[in-house]
Amino acid sequence: MPWCTDCDRFLSPSTVSEDGSCPACGRQVDDSAAVGRKDDAEALPPVPWHLKVLASGVVAYLGWRVVQGIVWLID
Ligand SMILES: [Zn+2]
Repeated sequence: MPWCTDCDRFLSPSTVSEDGSCPACGRQVDDSAAVGRKDDAEALPPVPWHLKVLASGVVAYLGWRVVQGIVWLID
């Protein structure tokens, strides 16, 4: 996430000028990708596919339990 130290705020990548400067003050923003640091990318890796499968399985199981509970209440 680009950070402008002069404006003291984060900038969305789409609002940063093409040359990497802040649109408000024109200062070069501290974009970790631009200066070559990969810390942010390593701190937030993409969600592994098996976690998505696990999460969807849990949601499906809980949904099924809710259906069972409703059927139990009706009976
Ligand atoms: Zn700025």
